[in-house]
Amino acid sequence: MSVAPISSKIKFKMLILLINFLYSQNIFASYFPLEFDDVNSLPFRFNNVPTSLFNLSGLPLNALQVLNESYRLRMQKQISDLCQRVDYTYKKLDWGKSPCFSLPLTYNYVSENGKPLVYWEFSDNSSGFDESQRRNVTLILGGVHPDELTPVHLAFQFADALNKNPNLYKDSRVIIAPLVNPDGFFANPPKRTNSNGVDLNRNFPTATWSKYAYQIWYNSKDRDKRKFPGRFPNSEQGTRFQADLINKFQPNKVISIHAPLAFLDLDYEIPKLLTIGPQTVQQKKARNLTELLSRSAGNYKIKDFGIYPGSLGNYAGNERVIPTITLELSSSNPKLVKKFWRDFSPGIFKALKYEFKKHQLDDLQASALWKTLN
Ligand SMILES: [Zn+2]
Repeated sequence: MSVAPISSKIKFKMLILLINFLYSQNIFASYFPLEFDDVNSLPFRFNNVPTSLFNLSGLPLNALQVLNESYRLRMQKQISDLCQRVDYTYKKLDWGKSPCFSLPLTYNYVSENGKPLVYWEFSDNSSGFDESQRRNVTLILGGVHPDELTPVHLAFQFADALNKNPNLYKDSRVIIAPLVNPDGFFANPPKRTNSNGVDLNRNFPTATWSKYAYQIWYNSKDRDKRKFPGRFPNSEQGTRFQADLINKFQPNKVISIHAPLAFLDLDYEIPKLLTIGPQTVQQKKARNLTELLSRSAGNYKIKDFGIYPGSLGNYAGNERVIPTITLELSSSNPKLVKKFWRDFSPGIFKALKYEFKKHQLDDLQASALWKTLN
């Protein structure tokens, strides 16, 4: 009988599990009290772990550094693999070289096919992270539906421009996730859903999801597989990734880029209920921001497209009262990316500096109607 050799990856995982278990039993505490400077920055808690243990895996001593380094290298490798694929696709689409390798990437989630869900945080720390930055945080999302090719290019282009010119995000903070659904982008041909066949713009855990999302889809005439909301809310890595960016960075505005419906759509739903009274300051500002984007792009059409259970507009715009603007480019034709950059970059650069004086909820809660409703 032959026994399959255990791969080094599995050995490494077994070692980590063993260490964590032993550590949790407090076995090492009194024997090898090692001191490290920056233990909190590590993915695991390793203080008090005997360095000799790491000889089991054949790793050199000073295990803490070795493990930290291997974690970093693995991350770097995953990012570099992703960028290679992005470069390859750019070439195929005749977009030249992608800026992926030159960007300061990070990730906390990986897709169902093991691709890192990357984002870049551009933050002007020149005057410290103060109040002005808190009220000027923008989240830009691209590649949620990656069969819509053009938004992926536009989002990468923004990241590249900000990376080269910090003035573009002076006194503000910009988070860009240019490829929310890499598995769909790398499919051949690229597809709207992720590798589980779920539409990442129908899977957000909103209040109405359980009651309506699946039901609406199931009862629809064509039961379009491209718009499948998933079997559970928040079931997908790509959904959790987007929701996490919103909850972590608390943006004051979200711009999500899609194609090819050719309009701007503002989702900012709860305040709309208040239109029987005067508009709140924030409502006016959100509307003005949408109009600014429209004017900058030659009076681009503004349309109220509505929200779905499980859509970003519902999750962020409706339930979290964050002005959420969907920019629908007019085409997915990869030949048009330069035109879209020319048309929309001036408006979006202005939008990055467009301030909301305080959080929208503060304003809403101060309104008379809110008080009567609560
Ligand atoms: Zn779309």
